[in-house]
Amino acid sequence: MKDTRRIRGTAGHGRHARPGRLGTLAAIGALTLAALATASATLPLPIRASAGPASTAHDSTLTPCRIAPAAGVQMSEGVPTPTGYTRSTGTVRALNLMVDFSDAPGPGRAADRLGEFFPQTSQWFRTSSYGRLDYRPEAPLKDWLRMPLPFADYGIERGAPYEPGYRRLVQDIVTVADPQVDFSEYDLVNILVTPNAGPSALDTVLSVTFSGNGEAPKADGVPLSNTSFVYSRQDDGSGSYSRTGYRVLPHENGHVFGLPDLYTMDGGGTVGHWDIMSEDWGANNDLLGWHKWKLGWLDNAQVSCAAAPGESEHDLTPLATEGGHKLAFVPLSEESGFAVEVRTRAGNDEAVCKPGVLIYRVETDVDTGRGPVTVSDSEERSGGCTRRPNVHAELSDAPYGPGETFRDRESGVSVAVLGTDGDGGYRVRISRS
Ligand SMILES: [Zn+2]
Repeated sequence: MKDTRRIRGTAGHGRHARPGRLGTLAAIGALTLAALATASATLPLPIRASAGPASTAHDSTLTPCRIAPAAGVQMSEGVPTPTGYTRSTGTVRALNLMVDFSDAPGPGRAADRLGEFFPQTSQWFRTSSYGRLDYRPEAPLKDWLRMPLPFADYGIERGAPYEPGYRRLVQDIVTVADPQVDFSEYDLVNILVTPNAGPSALDTVLSVTFSGNGEAPKADGVPLSNTSFVYSRQDDGSGSYSRTGYRVLPHENGHVFGLPDLYTMDGGGTVGHWDIMSEDWGANNDLLGWHKWKLGWLDNAQVSCAAAPGESEHDLTPLATEGGHKLAFVPLSEESGFAVEVRTRAGNDEAVCKPGVLIYRVETDVDTGRGPVTVSDSEERSGGCTRRPNVHAELSDAPYGPGETFRDRESGVSVAVLGTDGDGGYRVRISRS
């Protein structure tokens, strides 16, 4: 943790906030970011017939592993994802609006701002979803959309709640864009704010997503219920911005698909670089297998559920490659379990320095930003195997290799890595009492 910029950037990165009723918002308005992240919010009703995740098909052998969202958790790891979020499979149309202000006029062309995020974001989703999410970015307005108020007047700061600043901003965006945009044609909205509005991302990350928010202002009959805002540039000065700076957007869009933040107030120490909802600066990374199942990118046939006492063996293929068995899950309760998957340097996972079997605990009763996922480190206090900037080093060598065994004393669960198949796949033996 020498690089304080990294800590700020990572830990400070774009918490989503999903506001609920006005009363709730008034209550949380004066509180801190931590309080905001745990404020309870009533789930809004489904907004559109097409909304909602697709991974709800049932297979009774997986039932014990389909640990559900716990009551009172704002944004949970549970399966299935509640309705109100954007559908995460098939064709999804993203409306991109580039906005600027009189006190922060957009430098250069608005199309260049769009070009910082596309086509990389669409490609990232195509790769991570094995082609199941066809993300179509559209920008019907080619120029900067000038807001009627100066940026300073909206009161946008880190952790700012939806009311009143964001509601005013969204209302103004609708008013200015509506004559030329049919908002009902889109599944989600990206507001790409001019990079000179607000502080540098090195100081404070303002990027934020309001998802599942059925009380957002309406346009063309639909509320802007799943909207990501991206500010500044996540440029760490390492020279990689042109290749990796877009990654804030797939992170923010992860929230519109219902994924919680995996970093905590302490940074990325519970998941490290194994999921873009944990770290979205620096080298590219993928999503956890749990997230891919939650999003409908893994079939039920690609998941096995080790619910019964005794031993079972599982052959797992690398998460980054399409097809094959990807995820074994060991349920511990109705709210928690261990996930087992294979991570290699391929696909979106460019920073993997120790391929192997990644094991992590998922807890659906732990809220976004509070550590709902915890990766088990096979080599604690090793310092890790990567020195890439903005990658949590300690957990970079977390995967278990052949001959190594994960043991959880409390539950009596163990996972032994029996060997590899020479093709990147691993065989594991799960034992539980
Ligand atoms: Zn976030």
